[in-house]
Amino acid sequence: MASQPNDTGAARQPAYTIIDHTYDVVVVGAGGSGLRATMGAAEVGLRTANITKVFPTRSHTVAAQGGIAASLGNNTPDHWTWHMYDTVKGSDWLGDQDAIEYMVREAPQAVYELEHAGVPFSRNPDGTIYQRPFGGHMQNMGEGPPVQRTAAAADRTGHAMLHALYQQSLKYDADFFIEYFAIDLIMKDGACVGVVALCLDDGSIHRFRAKAVVLATGGYGRCYFTATSAHTCTGDGGGMVLRAGLPLQDMEFVQFHPTGIYGAGVLITEGARGEGGYLTNSEGERFMERYAPSAKDLASRDVVSRSMALEIREGRGVGPDKDHIYLHLDHIDPRILAERLPGITESGKIFAGVDLTRQPLPVVPTVHYNMGGIPTNYHGEVMTVAGGDPETVVPGLFAVGEAACVSVHGANRLGSNSLIDLVVFGRATGHRLKELIKPGTSHDELPKDAGELALTRLDHFRNAKGGSPTAAIRKEMQQTMSKHAAVFRTSDLLKEGVTELAKTYERMQDVSVADRSLIWNSDLVETLELDNLIAQATVTMASAENRKESRGAHAHEDYPERDDANWMKHTVAWFDGWGGTGGGVKIDYRPVHKYTLTDDIAYIKPKKRVY
Ligand SMILES: Cc1cc2nc3c(=O)[nH]c(=O)nc-3n(C[C@H](O)[C@H](O)[C@H](O)COP(=O)(O)OP(=O)(O)OC[C@H]3O[C@@H](n4cnc5c(N)ncnc54)[C@H](O)[C@@H]3O)c2cc1C
Repeated sequence: MASQPNDTGAARQPAYTIIDHTYDVVVVGAGGSGLRATMGAAEVGLRTANITKVFPTRSHTVAAQGGIAASLGNNTPDHWTWHMYDTVKGSDWLGDQDAIEYMVREAPQAVYELEHAGVPFSRNPDGTIYQRPFGGHMQNMGEGPPVQRTAAAADRTGHAMLHALYQQSLKYDADFFIEYFAIDLIMKDGACVGVVALCLDDGSIHRFRAKAVVLATGGYGRCYFTATSAHTCTGDGGGMVLRAGLPLQDMEFVQFHPTGIYGAGVLITEGARGEGGYLTNSEGERFMERYAPSAKDLASRDVVSRSMALEIREGRGVGPDKDHIYLHLDHIDPRILAERLPGITESGKIFAGVDLTRQPLPVVPTVHYNMGGIPTNYHGEVMTVAGGDPETVVPGLFAVGEAACVSVHGANRLGSNSLIDLVVFGRATGHRLKELIKPGTSHDELPKDAGELALTRLDHFRNAKGGSPTAAIRKEMQQTMSKHAAVFRTSDLLKEGVTELAKTYERMQDVSVADRSLIWNSDLVETLELDNLIAQATVTMASAENRKESRGAHAHEDYPERDDANWMKHTVAWFDGWGGTGGGVKIDYRPVHKYTLTDDIAYIKPKKRVY
């Protein structure tokens, strides 16, 4: 590692020392998707680095509870075509069917790969992997009954997966840069050639030159006030992509999980309803029977969340303020709860003070997942729209996991389809990198100004002397998002949301950072994260305001119907600026892929979506 003085030319005080590195592949993020991509690249002999702001096993994947979907057919009959149908329907026909076919066909193999990697899946008496029902997953091309498709390690599936993947990845010759914060991409002539990161514990700056950068930075749930996602889910990869002048896709589609614990936002897995749990209103009515007569409590998430919001709005919520709903598990055999849902039994006690073997749990729809993100094809290659071509690949840049929008989840993701997305597309990206990069070949020189944007921003925020603490601006953004881009949206709410957020964004010019050091400066890191969050919040609100229909998680009360003629297309949105300057959003579209990958299955034509 050669240390050299900062030679990027700009006047910065004080000059930063830059440590340079050269790799074939740099993966940013060590959640399920980042670790799988790292393994894939290292396995084929590519010199690979993984940069992660938290220790790998602390990535949000660790919190995944319910499980991972694959048509193994261990507990009920199943077929990949059924999984495909459900995913297309779940996406409300916004998903790309070539990518969906790829995912569901690779899924069983990916689960067996995890089994062999050491994931301790729950078992059936005959030794096969146990599978539970999950919302929106059905038999017989959507006709029903519910299928048992979700493989799980009790209710700690993500924990088991992440630990197994991290252990496996250590077997390969990849270098881990742990507790390094990636600030910005290095771009050259429209291609990505590297990334700049800050080492959090000693403040050194690291410039990585690479033939490919893979963004696996997770979702941006924290732009809302209450979310099931970890505080680290700040969408840093999306922020970097926007600053590189590239668009994000389908950002208006934000998933609310029906069962976040009221007040705390902590998740109760859909597996709870999969194991027989059900929801009731203040009249003790199992109201999902009215909204989704056949799937009931196992309808897809957007449908259940909307039904709960309607019950609350019409005065049938529970509690003193009638502002939440009950989830019942008290009728289930306590032995089954202890065996299959031990984690949520504990969460119920800690976060709601409820013994769920005897009492119902107070729950409310809570921000959970971002369907939108960095547009990619099913090889993980980042796409943009250039010169009118909506299928333009950005050389050197890849994205996987929740940060990406492949798009397999379209307007609404089915439960347990994210964990499978992580490993299937993490692996696909490894394959693509192998095709594109020859190990040991020479690297181009970095551009003269490489790292300029990252260092300018770092220095700017580190010395920010305004009057608005980061936490105050963040709270304002989160409240606006929670009020104006919630489960139900209206034109007026969204228009006001756009205006409110623009004001909050401008306040970033007045941000104050109290700590000037570079050693574990959490004030500075949170400000860099806020800069990423607020750009994506702005794009989310603008994309939602722009889409004049209801589809999947985007429920627009002034346009309550899905409008395939005008809106069966992906939104792509660019954002200009950072740190409170600029702030304009430009919107364009990419066509939905209305074709499958092979002739084994025909394009699944749009239908009305009822459960
Ligand atoms: C509580 C909860 C339960 C869930 N349960 C399920 C489930 O049962 N089944 C299912 O399919 N899905 C579930 N999901 C969704 C799923 O878990 C996530 O979508 C998925 O784990 C995201 O994985 P990821 O690899 O994309 O990113 P993450 O696991 O979020 O990891 C992001 C990584 O990026 C790194 N990173 C981010 N920014 C930077 C930066 N600037 N510099 C360096 N590193 C950075 C972080 O250090 C981290 O390693 C759940 C989600 C939550 C929140």
